[in-house]
Amino acid sequence: MDLTKRHLMAKAGIVGASALVAYTQASGAEEVAKTPFNVPLTTIPIVGSREVFPVRRIYCIGRNYEAHAREMGSDPTREPPFFFQKPTDAIQYVPPGQTINHTYPTLTKNYHHEIELVAVLSKGGRDIPVEKALDYVYGYAVGLDMTRRDLQRGMGNQKKPWEIGKSFDHSAPIGPIHTLDKVGHIKDGAIWLKVNGVIKQEANLSQMIWSVAEQISQLSFAFEMMPGDIIYSGTPENVGPVVAGDTMEGHIDGLPNISLKVI
Ligand code: MN
Repeated sequence: MDLTKRHLMAKAGIVGASALVAYTQASGAEEVAKTPFNVPLTTIPIVGSREVFPVRRIYCIGRNYEAHAREMGSDPTREPPFFFQKPTDAIQYVPPGQTINHTYPTLTKNYHHEIELVAVLSKGGRDIPVEKALDYVYGYAVGLDMTRRDLQRGMGNQKKPWEIGKSFDHSAPIGPIHTLDKVGHIKDGAIWLKVNGVIKQEANLSQMIWSVAEQISQLSFAFEMMPGDIIYSGTPENVGPVVAGDTMEGHIDGLPNISLKVI
């Protein structure tokens, strides 16, 4: 069975048995609780495995490449890292070797691409030291932090939450997960994004201001990290708009490209 089929089957599944047991314990009932309707788990295929990765939370870091921080109007040398979240069902799985349709979202007139390395965790913890942080990583994937830039900026200007600009349906396209035994820890190498075959974003992963290890550590001071958490590790400079009809191709050295056509 190919990755897409397995992914779709997992998407159709209900919340897992462990969640039901936890619910039963919380409610004090002795019988296994049943849900009145099914809620799909969000999962991501794992290359070379029959298992799929269950997504618990999606964290994203802001302004993590110096030139991108400057283009967004901040001084990266003086600012601590900051994070936001997307809902887990914002994941849109992009099988390698295919171009999949990506629906232009509602409400925006300035829809931006942000190509990012995604680190996924298989262990949880609090107050994780930087030196230990990579022990929590299960693997890596190529992702896009799609952004309704006009709404993000508009809300930011009003000192209101970014939610509507960042945390909407299908705003987190992602390729399959590659485990450490296949790709090791990805710390440098090219990251680029093309629109209609033309390079728009291009940098090296080593140019991150806060490394993946530092991001995990920093997040763990604010939140208890858990297995299934994934982290979009920031985008380089030259973010920009796409419109219906455009094809985006995203690349990170060592991982297969992802390709999406905006419709
Ligand atoms: Mn981003």
